[in-house]
Amino acid sequence: MLAIRGLKVSIEGPASTKVTAGKKEILKGIDLEVGSGEIHVLMGPNGSGKSTLAQVIAGAPQFKVQSLKFKFEGRDLMKLTPDKRARLGIFLAFQHPVEIPGVSVFNVLRRAKQSNGKSAIPLYNSVARKKKIYSPLATIDVGGARILRQELVGYLRDLKLSEDFLSRSLNEGFSGGEKKRSEILQMMALAPKLVILDEIDSGLDVDGLKTVTSAINQFTTKNPRSSILIITHYARILRYLKPDFVHIMMDGIIVKSGSMKLARQIEERGYEVLNDERLKTNANVIASEARFASEARRAKQSKSMSFSRMRESDSESSSE
Ligand code: ADP
Ligand code: MG
Repeated sequence: MLAIRGLKVSIEGPASTKVTAGKKEILKGIDLEVGSGEIHVLMGPNGSGKSTLAQVIAGAPQFKVQSLKFKFEGRDLMKLTPDKRARLGIFLAFQHPVEIPGVSVFNVLRRAKQSNGKSAIPLYNSVARKKKIYSPLATIDVGGARILRQELVGYLRDLKLSEDFLSRSLNEGFSGGEKKRSEILQMMALAPKLVILDEIDSGLDVDGLKTVTSAINQFTTKNPRSSILIITHYARILRYLKPDFVHIMMDGIIVKSGSMKLARQIEERGYEVLNDERLKTNANVIASEARFASEARRAKQSKSMSFSRMRESDSESSSE
């Protein structure tokens, strides 16, 4: 479903002074495969690049991205804008959700469902469409809105939120826990194919964590083909979720992948336990550097060969 090879991500430093100008490499050659229906956990200390990876998969524009392979369901992500990626079924729950005053939770979900085409709710109601009225009021399709509301109320109950949550402005004045639940509500409503949860556990108390993880477990049961990438730096969320794979990221590289056993090791002994692996990081980076260069060269060669072949066949046909 998601296939990443040799992913490198950097960001331009501010060019205002000579000292800070220049490129900062954040991800230094990430390989990651996520299959349909799999649950992956990505752990790592603060600043290791986890959120950057999440944002780059979703299509954040501020980064410079290079890769040998960066595909979702066979489609090259490099060529897709964030909205297209979202329509293909990639969903990112933000570590720090932004506040959008004046736009209600309900309207965000209604519009999102309309634009990814999953819902039967038309953008304009049938009367308005016939009369070609495109005023904001005409977008209220009363029947469709009622059905959606009913669906959402069910999810709110699972998340232990009251119905008036839907009329509040998105994230405005939400507590930390409410922000996280709001992200999960969006996941439940949109039923994406690939869910990336960036630190969904931070800012949640024990009850909140239990509620959110039980909603996630319910989601995976209901959508067995959807995959989840859970990003966290605490192993405590893994008491409630059972991932198929655990990856540890340090300094922009996945230094080790394994099973739940690896996460337990980290929980007991901290990331220090992977210091050996970390030392190998440099070797990994250098190796991936060499691989990157040689694969890029090969790709360039085969491209120029096919160009010259094209030119040959052009001149053949023109000489006829
Ligand atoms: P994590 O989520 O693992 O804590 P991040 O991906 O947020 O790590 O950050 C990784 C590194 O990249 C950090 O050193 C951070 O300061 C840097 N970084 C991320 N985004 C930017 C940005 N927009 N500008 C400059 N540096 C950034
Ligand atoms: Mg982060």
